[in-house]
Amino acid sequence: MDFQETLKMLKEDPRYQSAKLVAVQLPEGLKRRAEEIAHTLSDKELVFIGDPFWGACDIPPEGKWDLLVQFGHSPIPNLGSFGKVAFLELQEEVKNEIDYNAVGLSSLTLTSNITYSKELPRIKKYLEDHGIKVTLKRGDLRVLYPGQILGCNISAARGDDEGVLFIGEGMFHPLGIALALDRKVIAYNPRTDEYVDMEREKRKFLAQRYSAVDRATSARIFGIIVSSKIGQTRYSLARAAKRLLDRNGKRSFIIVADLIRDEVLVNFPADVYVNTACPRVTIEDYASFSRPLITYYELEMALGVRDKSRYILDEIVKTDEIGSTSFWRGNESSGNNRLH
Ligand code: SF4
Repeated sequence: MDFQETLKMLKEDPRYQSAKLVAVQLPEGLKRRAEEIAHTLSDKELVFIGDPFWGACDIPPEGKWDLLVQFGHSPIPNLGSFGKVAFLELQEEVKNEIDYNAVGLSSLTLTSNITYSKELPRIKKYLEDHGIKVTLKRGDLRVLYPGQILGCNISAARGDDEGVLFIGEGMFHPLGIALALDRKVIAYNPRTDEYVDMEREKRKFLAQRYSAVDRATSARIFGIIVSSKIGQTRYSLARAAKRLLDRNGKRSFIIVADLIRDEVLVNFPADVYVNTACPRVTIEDYASFSRPLITYYELEMALGVRDKSRYILDEIVKTDEIGSTSFWRGNESSGNNRLH
């Protein structure tokens, strides 16, 4: 949908109409449109939230505003409803037809980020009309649309097809799928009309991850990071990490922070950080930290309690619970899959 049309739709929302003070949260790529938004919404007192924002998991504690407008993300169903938050998804069209020869899969699970989620039923039909078996499935309750992938949740990509086709920009989401599943993953970027087989990216990333695991094996002191953002908090996972470290004779402490950046952590005396906040931070921001950042599952590998041969992606299903579906499956038999 056109950006101005989206703003028009917002102006028709009764919550907007009755609001006096409206707060706006913009992804980094949209901040340059702040003046245009301010001009279009000039009938309201407006404040832009300056802090970086990557997902609907980040809903600031209630401020003095009457309505918070989030651009570019869909709600996360299992976080509950937020009456004072308007989610403007900014969905876009895929202009070119998918080149199924370039994809090279006879059966595939179709996925995308939020930007192209509404295009997936149409793309599914097109591919099926050309003889390809296509699965478009609803993920778990952390995602809203069938086929939708988050950087912290790839449940909609799981299945038995030959491979996965991801529609969207950037490598972050398809890399997560490739890491979690032992299947071919093709990323199609509708803006550049390019197809990328994620195998090479995956190998590069895994080399970095196993090097972080090796450094963690010899580390003495661990800082365990917990996010204070409502949709990222996994305190129980942090406590599980602490117990694991205690049992293995390692020293550790828990750090709660809103924005996970090196300058926030640098003065804590940790050799390695265990990140239980947004998994994107471990994947995309890794190089910006002065000490290694690892996930809970990587910590298990470093301490020798998990086999290194199969990499487990850090995913969030529900907040403040052990996130990965793999973890839950692995513990079902013991009847002890919830940590307190
Ligand atoms: S936790 Fe990270 S990956 Fe998940 S929705 Fe939030 S910003 Fe996106």
